[in-house]
Amino acid sequence: MEFFKCILVEEAVNIIKEEFKDYKLESEIVDLEYAYDRVIYEDVVSTQFVPEFDRSTVDGYAIVAEDSYGASDTIPTILDVIGEVKMGEMTDIVISSGKCAYVPTGGMIPQGANAVIMIENTEKMDEKTLLVQKPVRVQENVIKRGEDIRENEIVIEKGRKLNPAHIGALASLGISRVKVFKKPKVSIISTGDEIIGIEEKLEYGKIRDINSYSLRAQAQKSGLEVVENVIVKDDFNQLKEAIEKGIEKSDIVLLSGGSSVGERDFTKEAINSLGGKGILAHGISIKPGKPTLIANAKGKLVIGLPGHPVSAITVFMAVVEPFIEQLYSLKTIKPTIFAKMTANFPSAPGKDTYVFVNIKKEDGIYYATPKFGKSGMITNLSKADGYIVLKIQEEGVNKGDLREVYLL
Ligand code: AMP
Ligand code: MG
Repeated sequence: MEFFKCILVEEAVNIIKEEFKDYKLESEIVDLEYAYDRVIYEDVVSTQFVPEFDRSTVDGYAIVAEDSYGASDTIPTILDVIGEVKMGEMTDIVISSGKCAYVPTGGMIPQGANAVIMIENTEKMDEKTLLVQKPVRVQENVIKRGEDIRENEIVIEKGRKLNPAHIGALASLGISRVKVFKKPKVSIISTGDEIIGIEEKLEYGKIRDINSYSLRAQAQKSGLEVVENVIVKDDFNQLKEAIEKGIEKSDIVLLSGGSSVGERDFTKEAINSLGGKGILAHGISIKPGKPTLIANAKGKLVIGLPGHPVSAITVFMAVVEPFIEQLYSLKTIKPTIFAKMTANFPSAPGKDTYVFVNIKKEDGIYYATPKFGKSGMITNLSKADGYIVLKIQEEGVNKGDLREVYLL
């Protein structure tokens, strides 16, 4: 009987990161319309000022701010209206003390003006005369040339996953095509004599292939491109062939099932038969997810995930995701919240324990309720809102503790 020599989650992450530290992703150019959620390959540096000209942030009148000092409803400042700035057009109006011109939101500030008084704080006496009823500060309601983006400024750093605001910033610079990392390719292999395709008739004793789908989705969520998805039997030759094919086609090969030490667990043997470094680690101190294999097969990362669907996803999040972050030089932070535990939960001795929780919010405070369930049950995960991690040295979590919750 062979036993695991389990390593810490941190060690597993470091082994992978170190082993593949020189593994580089290529870049590709994508249209801005399709750039959402992609990762920027190199710093985007502005070659322009945004805005290109001083702009008004309100509908109002461009004035010399000092003219408005001391103005009120009862003692308004009286100004001559000398014109109107047209939206989207240059203006040759020149403002000096005692004069003003109408400017729409986003319109160009005429020369000589240094503030805009909101229309709500003025009254038109007649076509040519304006009463200013409130003072404005110098530069109030004005966005200066280059105040948003300056020339030579880094607008988006390498490793940022593009969100809608990034897309907008790129659009403001007229950048319609962006250089992003090519998505790392992944092959997903589900193993097990009992596993059948989800469209096949479910005979007694068989199990539908959950992992192909859940891991595919998890991989997509993490920015991977799934290039192959197969089910193979617990058969050494079939398994070896599938892994070999996966290595040829992809950057990462994920297997699920057959990674333990059972009689029909061939993953380890199959990987080692491919040559190269082979298995780097077998067994991680994590619950759920202990029977995990980490390998370098022909220069590619091969991970043998446990068969239990929840375990497979947990190990993916714990050890595969950090590697993807390294590949992408990712700078984006994972969303978490802090929540008060509503119940005690014990940790598994000698392991990092992933506890799935439900979150509710009451009077502005988040509460996390741990779910008690087995790793063979997909609903333990699908009905959860997030998870907390109890580190190996912790005995558990207590009711009332404030914990960081990773949102699913
Ligand atoms: P294994 O790691 O191969 O021993 O599998 C552990 C458990 O996970 C077994 O009960 C398997 O039937 C189950 N399992 C393995 N692969 C899958 C899969 N792709 N979908 C659903 N359950 C699976
Ligand atoms: Mg199996």
